[in-house]
Amino acid sequence: MSEVSRPSLSESSQSSLTRRDFVIAAGAVTVGAGSATSLQAAESGRDYDVIILGGGFCGVTAARECQRAGLRSVILEARNRLGGRTFTADFMGRPTDMGGTWVHWSQPYVWTEIRRHGLALHETPGASADKIIVHTSSDQIETLSYAKISDRLEKAVSLYMGDSRTLLPLPHDPFGSDAYRSVDQISSAERLASVANKIPPVYRDLVDGYMASAGHNYCEQFAWIEMVRWYVLPGHNFADMNDAAGRYHFRDGTVALLSAIQSETHPEVRLHTPVKRVQQDATGVSVQTAGGEELRARAVISTIPLNVLKDLEWQPELSAAQLAASRMSHAGVGTKVHVVLEGDYGSLFGMAPSHKALNYLVTEDVADGHTHLVGFGPSRDLLNVNDINSVQQAVRLFLPDAKVLKTFGYEWVLDPYSKGTWCTLRQGMWSRYLRELQQPRGRVIFASADWANGWRGFIDGAIEQGLEAGKRVRELLA
Ligand SMILES: Cc1cc2nc3c(=O)[nH]c(=O)nc-3n(C[C@H](O)[C@H](O)[C@H](O)COP(=O)(O)OP(=O)(O)OC[C@H]3O[C@@H](n4cnc5c(N)ncnc54)[C@H](O)[C@@H]3O)c2cc1C
Repeated sequence: MSEVSRPSLSESSQSSLTRRDFVIAAGAVTVGAGSATSLQAAESGRDYDVIILGGGFCGVTAARECQRAGLRSVILEARNRLGGRTFTADFMGRPTDMGGTWVHWSQPYVWTEIRRHGLALHETPGASADKIIVHTSSDQIETLSYAKISDRLEKAVSLYMGDSRTLLPLPHDPFGSDAYRSVDQISSAERLASVANKIPPVYRDLVDGYMASAGHNYCEQFAWIEMVRWYVLPGHNFADMNDAAGRYHFRDGTVALLSAIQSETHPEVRLHTPVKRVQQDATGVSVQTAGGEELRARAVISTIPLNVLKDLEWQPELSAAQLAASRMSHAGVGTKVHVVLEGDYGSLFGMAPSHKALNYLVTEDVADGHTHLVGFGPSRDLLNVNDINSVQQAVRLFLPDAKVLKTFGYEWVLDPYSKGTWCTLRQGMWSRYLRELQQPRGRVIFASADWANGWRGFIDGAIEQGLEAGKRVRELLA
């Protein structure tokens, strides 16, 4: 971990951090020997076996697979750091993840890497808190004991999920059965409305709020089947779904795993290198950077996220389905915020329905008389993650007297290299676009957590896709 540096945002100045400040702070983060490998690349010419576009978990895993196969490869990364939608910053003197964070043993690809590299995990105490604070749809605050409501909550979620075993019998094979097709047009909101009369109001609000935080948008905006997938993958129950999505995180941040994967083979990396154009011909692929440089390879692995895919020039052009899906964009455009409150609020789990500024708020830590919480909301229209007043108002949905001392969040939706957070497919996208998004086109292999088979929208899905891309490129170039 000695190669990792993080920006320190532990000073009081970050309480009203502007986007510009944050971008500057983020600039201090590098993972691995970024500058040294850039130099290597410059010295070693411009012809590669494989050029990898993007250095998130998918790209870094793909690069390792290529290097292991003896393929000369380079990662071209637009940002000034690796990690993509994962990013470990230093907040209050601790490694703090601004993007992807939690992992679970039900996630086979990431769990294998965690074990292989012997990485330590920590628990987010609020994810298993007994104290559940619900801000209801009638604007009441109810404090419940999880021990007392867990059975009824499990039942409410199970009603919402329906016949999950029939809908997704093979959760890591999205096309293993056609059953999902019959419900793919149904939104999370429509599904909840269809079973609402069987669920008591406060449980309805809990389900609504939880699904909004998982879909990272208003529940009208994403497909119900995506939530069924989250439920099925860890074993068809809500307790495990919640553990898988929000309980265990890397003690030293996601950067610990990223560095571990990267340091297995030390691939060449060019940071600050946005790719503008990708052009194939009979013998290879030319990649033009925004700086005007042209590199050439026998194959390309693109890990460009779904919401950004349309912004590059592709020759031949993207397929109609790829373009339509990228234009439609996935629905993950919500907010994530770290908050420090004055006072010890203990371990709590706050939930509020879909159209509230925060749907999900959990204690991450209590120390020195302060409480560190992590929250998720459906839209930046309702919450400015770096505005202390906006965040305080949102936190007061659950804790009316709370005094926010610090807030810290990253605007993933404004970032031109992600234009969103994690992938949640909108209604109909699975049947219309998913298969096509996974297809290689000639010498370009498209890989991303955004169209992974199993844990789509997760770090696990990114690694799954990086491994798959490595295999495909080996076959292509054999
Ligand atoms: C707020 C938030 C919370 C999340 N929480 C979790 C969680 O708790 N657990 C979990 O498992 N997952 C979580 N995720 C999702 C997870 O982080 C992502 O699904 C995963 O990291 C995506 O990996 P990727 O490599 O497929 O894509 P990315 O990480 O997006 O990597 C793509 C790379 O391509 C680069 N790029 C884009 N355009 C260009 C260009 N023109 N030229 C060159 N490079 C380019 C980008 O800069 C980026 O580095 C979260 C994500 C966010 C944003």
